[in-house]
Amino acid sequence: MNAAAILKSHCSDNEHFTNMWIKAFDFWNIQYGKLVVDDLNIDDLRSFEVLLITGMEHISDSAYRLLDRYILRGGKILISGDLPNGFSKYFNGMMVKKIQRSNVHRCIRIKNKDGFQQWDDGEILFFTGTFNSHGLDYITDDTVITDADIPAVSEEMTMSAGNPGLWRDWKESPSLSVIIKRHGEGKILYTPFALGAMTEMYQPHTADSIDYLYAKQNHGLYLFIRSLLMSLTENYKYREPWQDGTQCVVSITGDVHDYTGIAGREDREWNDMRYNFDLLKEYGLEGKASYYVCGEVARKHPDVIREGLKRGFELCPHTFQETQYAIEKWDYNRQREDIIRCINAFENAAPGYDDYKKGFRTHGYQSNQITRDVLLDLGYEYIADMQAWETTGMYNPDFPEKLINFAAYPQFISEEGNRGLLEIPDTYANDHFAYRVMKMSPAQALEFWKKQFDKAYHLGGLFQACLHPYISLKEDPEREKTYRGLIEYILSHSGVSFMTMREISEWWKKRDSCNK
Ligand SMILES: [Zn+2]
Repeated sequence: MNAAAILKSHCSDNEHFTNMWIKAFDFWNIQYGKLVVDDLNIDDLRSFEVLLITGMEHISDSAYRLLDRYILRGGKILISGDLPNGFSKYFNGMMVKKIQRSNVHRCIRIKNKDGFQQWDDGEILFFTGTFNSHGLDYITDDTVITDADIPAVSEEMTMSAGNPGLWRDWKESPSLSVIIKRHGEGKILYTPFALGAMTEMYQPHTADSIDYLYAKQNHGLYLFIRSLLMSLTENYKYREPWQDGTQCVVSITGDVHDYTGIAGREDREWNDMRYNFDLLKEYGLEGKASYYVCGEVARKHPDVIREGLKRGFELCPHTFQETQYAIEKWDYNRQREDIIRCINAFENAAPGYDDYKKGFRTHGYQSNQITRDVLLDLGYEYIADMQAWETTGMYNPDFPEKLINFAAYPQFISEEGNRGLLEIPDTYANDHFAYRVMKMSPAQALEFWKKQFDKAYHLGGLFQACLHPYISLKEDPEREKTYRGLIEYILSHSGVSFMTMREISEWWKKRDSCNK
């Protein structure tokens, strides 16, 4: 038995609330069914280990009696969002105060069946306090949540021009957000968060942010759902994000340019990359990094391309010559010609490899849908342009230490599913951001990345921050200590696997196709 049932009703349409749960069930490969609560009989319930109630305003008396029997015999119910009418009457005074509107900040932009919607009615919020360092917190039995201060990702976060990701009046809530109540042999788990409507997050628009069109699936919500289910059942088998017991995947990437005509940066990054190869080898990480290299570099320095590929590193194109396709509004044919020109340069440098035909990152992350169409048409497997971290605010020094509200895994972005293009996100802030935008010292940057790694490690996430050989190693000699310090810190953890982006792409395809 490995199944959840989503309850529905003739009286109210809760599809809106269940869509994200279904995505999460698919992600974890959990079998689920749908039951119409008005037509239930006890035999329908027997084969389900957990019943999900979300977005249901009303349950009939006869259905309540049935649910009562189901729980008394060891069934489990998971409620997300408002309690349906009459719930407390049947389940022995389970009382949860509705969260007051005045305590609620406006919420993130979310996308639902009606398109964008701004939730500001105090009903549905982002979760917090759930992924602290001890995992999911919950309180048991008869506890009443009063006036919970639930920090949401606010309007300020999405709109603030000066401080991307920063929002005012943030307060970490002392109130926990999940309650478990025992009833007979069974359990009821309640969370005031109606998670279902929140599926995606959008990059905040700020004065200096790139106009990046792609939604990020918030896998943090999926992780939260898994935590809820784990609290209720020991029998579920989850399709884990990573293989062979890996807790956290680290992918080192770096972009390499030619910068003809720019004094001091001209004709050097290829050599910085080679230096980086040797540095990684010192840590036993020969071949365990992915570089996105402009076609011009491959044309001018075929030997370093050959060497890198021969040593097992992944080398892929990064436009031919520092082109920002989206900003410069390149059309399909122009982008296609540029990418083919890159492939040819790599092929001339190192015939017989195919890395450079599988993965791509656009300079400045300036790709658009056309880029994705071209890549798919040319047989590419993944694009590495999504800066998922920009959405989260967690790179901000004022971001509360314990709060993790966002996690991103790779995601297939086209209708072709796992035969289409995979988007592999940068999940943490890159060195350009740390050193040039935030002007961190090398010591500050090390602390910053260590904390970010801690979060990825705790969640079982992906740690992928673009660290350019030039910026992280050569622009300021002090930074090499940070680079080494970060690698040493990561290596001191068990269960970490270093993978190239191509390896991640191959794994994700396999993961997506198994057990379906
Ligand atoms: Zn670049």
